[in-house]
Amino acid sequence: MKVTVLSGGVGGARFVRGLVDVVPPADVTVIGNVGDDVEVLGLHVSPDLDSILYALADLNDEERGWGRAGETWEALAAAAGWGGGSWVRLGDRDIGLHLVRTQALRAGEPLSAATRRLVAAAGLETSLLPATDDRLRTWLDTPAGSFAFQEWFVARAHVDEVDAVRFEGADAATPAPGVLQALAAADLLLIAPSNPYVSIAPILAVRALRRAVEERTVPCVAVSPLIGGRAVKGPADRMLARLAGGTTPASVASCYPGLVDALVVDEADADALGGLGEVRPIVARTLMRDADSRRRLAEAALGAVPA
Ligand code: GDP
Ligand code: CA
Repeated sequence: MKVTVLSGGVGGARFVRGLVDVVPPADVTVIGNVGDDVEVLGLHVSPDLDSILYALADLNDEERGWGRAGETWEALAAAAGWGGGSWVRLGDRDIGLHLVRTQALRAGEPLSAATRRLVAAAGLETSLLPATDDRLRTWLDTPAGSFAFQEWFVARAHVDEVDAVRFEGADAATPAPGVLQALAAADLLLIAPSNPYVSIAPILAVRALRRAVEERTVPCVAVSPLIGGRAVKGPADRMLARLAGGTTPASVASCYPGLVDALVVDEADADALGGLGEVRPIVARTLMRDADSRRRLAEAALGAVPA
């Protein structure tokens, strides 16, 4: 069974890591968000692709939730000492990856090709594709003004309420090579428990990609990033409350109109299943705290496929 997953960073990476324990890794394609991509000190950083790559390669820091395990911070501290900006926290090991990617991009390689080489260097069989090779950047409109994603998320610690999310470059963006093929070849489409507004929406903002999901002939199953109406981490619950009018499973499903056939919701939300319409709820334990719980969540999502 071939599975194609739309994924943001940390929540998506945890989910994908569980998925490749229950589906052969070579049968999984992950389409990652690039709306968070940012230039830091001359380096091209793709935070969401990196979270997925590190999780798949078991290089991620489980406790911190992002970046590499066993990280040190000398390079960034030295850069700060020379007057360089250090608000995006890049560890020394992490920088190694950004150096290689940045060199490839400067040499004219598309992001998808550079990512493919990084995945191969990690010895992984799973395909990891950026949604697009084109420049697509997430912007947040807030009462305090408009901010580029990392400025809002990192520098301002996502304290500003969000009135609208915009994707600069989306109109002209085309799916990266392999993306439409992976969507067409899949027996099942999954949307990871990622932030619907700033992780999944920028992927779906690539028009041809969204159309391919709309016109799917196989099931598409999303996993809710909320437990008991609360985000496990980050601003998804606040954004849903303000932009979708609530934090119920129906609020999450409303982010994916015509795009999902089923929604995996946590047991803690099982008493709030009203308003889902055509979307079938699958109740499961969705907290991914270790390998077992990640695997069980993947199985719950896969269970949506009729045998
Ligand atoms: P980011 O790009 O690093 O912000 O990561 P994502 O958008 O992929 O994931 C963030 C979302 O993951 C948040 O809304 C969290 O609520 C959700 N999340 C993180 N861990 C878990 C978990 O164990 N279970 C569920 N259901 N959601 C989770
Ligand atoms: Ca992200």
